[in-house]
Amino acid sequence: MRKKIVAGNWKMNTTLQEGVGLAKDVNEALKKVQPKCDVVICVPFTHLAPVNDVIDQSKLGLGAENCADHDKGAYTGEVSAPMVASTGATYVILGHSERRQYYGETSDTLKTKVNLALQNNLTPIFCIGEVLEQRENGTYLDVVKSQIEEALFGLSADDFSKLILAYEPVWAIGTGKTATDDQAQEMHAFIRDVIEKQYGKKVSENISILYGGSCKPSNAAGLFAKPDVDGGLIGGASLDAESFMGIVNAF
Ligand code: PEP
Repeated sequence: MRKKIVAGNWKMNTTLQEGVGLAKDVNEALKKVQPKCDVVICVPFTHLAPVNDVIDQSKLGLGAENCADHDKGAYTGEVSAPMVASTGATYVILGHSERRQYYGETSDTLKTKVNLALQNNLTPIFCIGEVLEQRENGTYLDVVKSQIEEALFGLSADDFSKLILAYEPVWAIGTGKTATDDQAQEMHAFIRDVIEKQYGKKVSENISILYGGSCKPSNAAGLFAKPDVDGGLIGGASLDAESFMGIVNAF
């Protein structure tokens, strides 16, 4: 059975003090419920070690939002996968559309980052998704297929099985416009099919595929009820413990 997962992506939000407070609130809230999914928060690099100190990672996983495409050296300002792992984090978001769009990340760079993450025992939460124009001109399935093929199909089946995928239609991120339950299901089933053709049914059935894009407590249950939607990657709604828990409890 594949895992159900709700993961927060805090992006470039919260000071260290605010972030530690938010992590404590989520950690406390999780003590009061028996979530039917794994729960993860992905936080800014500066927050990783201090947040690790205040959460119980048996209940709340910790991840970074990116890592460098080199493991060490003269790359001023970058943070490597070994550095992320040394904080106690075990997840890393890779290929988020904001990284692709604003920082020019390509499938080639992402291939390297995925390998470095895996070598350092970090679980990549790998993001894919089309922009509005591609949704409207009907190429959205092909676009997502290419993103997966280019960055990930060099992996062995064993390594591929360690990934979490997040389908995030770019037109739904931070816009308040969510994909419908059926649009999400169509894409998730398609992604599983693409994976099955490359790696076989066992791998495709076991990989968790999260939905991301304006997911909130009011729409999470409908999305999560779809058979191929295994949870969510949550941006804005993860910045408030109550709304994040509302999504966790939607399972
Ligand atoms: C995201 O950026 O990963 C995301 C899903 O953002 P939001 O929930 O704010 O749309």
